Amino acid sequence: MTAFLGMPAHAPRGVGHLRGEEPFPAAARRALNDAQLRRNLGKATSTIRAKRAAVVGELPDWEELRAAGRAIKADAMRNLDRYLLQLEAAVTERGGIVHWARDANEANAIVTSLVQAAGATEVVKVKSLATDEIGLNDALAAGGIAAYETDLAELIVQLGHDRPSHILVPAIHRNRAEIREIFLREMSDVDPGLTDDPAALAEAARRHLRRKFLSATVGISGVNFAVAETGTLCVLESEGNGRMCLTLPQTLITVMGIEKVIPTWADLGVFMQLLPRSSTGERMNPYTSMWTGVTAGDGPQAFHLVLLDNGRTAALADPVGREALHCIRCSACLNVCPVYERTGGHAYGSVYPGPIGAVLSPQLTGIQDNASLPYASSLCGACYDACPVKINIPSLLVHLRARHVEESGASVEALTMAAASWVMSSPRRFGRAQRAGRIYRPLGRRGGGLPPPLAAWTRSRDAPVPPARTFREWWRDEHGETP
Ligand code: SF4
Repeated sequence: MTAFLGMPAHAPRGVGHLRGEEPFPAAARRALNDAQLRRNLGKATSTIRAKRAAVVGELPDWEELRAAGRAIKADAMRNLDRYLLQLEAAVTERGGIVHWARDANEANAIVTSLVQAAGATEVVKVKSLATDEIGLNDALAAGGIAAYETDLAELIVQLGHDRPSHILVPAIHRNRAEIREIFLREMSDVDPGLTDDPAALAEAARRHLRRKFLSATVGISGVNFAVAETGTLCVLESEGNGRMCLTLPQTLITVMGIEKVIPTWADLGVFMQLLPRSSTGERMNPYTSMWTGVTAGDGPQAFHLVLLDNGRTAALADPVGREALHCIRCSACLNVCPVYERTGGHAYGSVYPGPIGAVLSPQLTGIQDNASLPYASSLCGACYDACPVKINIPSLLVHLRARHVEESGASVEALTMAAASWVMSSPRRFGRAQRAGRIYRPLGRRGGGLPPPLAAWTRSRDAPVPPARTFREWWRDEHGETP
């Protein structure tokens, strides 16, 4: 093991795809003008919401399960150093090799060198947010290695030269007519008579991928949970393509964010009930693959686990913000969020969109690099209610806004409050300020806002028109004395 755990918490040097090219408000404004996008999102999120509500409603102990999930994650984060070492020991004992990566650059370099050492120029991939986060496909391409996404939605995103816009359904912004066009344009082996019938599209993808599964010698995955006690890794997926990647190649490389570790095998039982219900609205998911190190004659004969920090220890150092590391990536918070439903995922500029992205991405990159995201919320609280591990996202948003203001130094708000404090601490100064406020009366009567730099505040709020007489003047007129 490297000195990784002994290092001070740090923001990473290479963060990968966590940072947007433009702030959320500008990107969101453009997305709001896309009627097709809003239609696709509205239909998809309302369908998943209804399915989730139905299966969650079946469990009388749902709240107890949520509390258990929260407690397990809190324990895992509190003792992360111990559990990661335990995981490393268990994986190594069973024939796996563990690598530690401080940031995206290190993780990409490790994976690229492992693929090259295996003599491969192609890899097949299981859907993985961690590898999206570090920009692994681009790094592999730079090393002369072609990476093939095998999850249907990720394949659509890859062939469309696009970016994922949802944690669970990365191509949620595409409808089936658009997917048909992408397949006809990008798949050399596709039937030119392909229709936009979902079954036909799935069949076209299946045929396209089958050859890749059979020829690839290296598979790359992420992981949903890693059990420290046994060294077992677990991937949940819906199509079975992930299982092909996990079992057919001779070498398997798994990239895992360090927060995915859970203490015991028994803990897995809690998350197996929470995750499928919260993500796809199913009682159990169709394919759950688990593996522990290497088994002679069965599955990949070389297994590498890359443990990724990339800003997670920096998030862990914040006693409030660390709660974002409890996330099990179910995407329930996206599906209930009124902001996400209207803007879609691309506006967040990060591989982690929606409410969880708004609290996780700024912590992974450092708040100044994703400063607009904690403000991308109405604080309605729907995300908190939906979260299967009870992450209090609204509180985290407020906390990160405060951190942003503090780390930005003197803000307009802070300067305004300091000025108000100075004025209000002297009756004479306060009286003069009230009289000076009358200048604003004609402007206020016309419905105008405050002048810059306070104009943004009144763009969406009413500024009351100052009265003709101040309270002191009214008192003096009524009672003949100054209060
Ligand atoms: S924050 Fe909660 S609801 Fe959102 S993706 Fe993570 S676990 Fe799911």
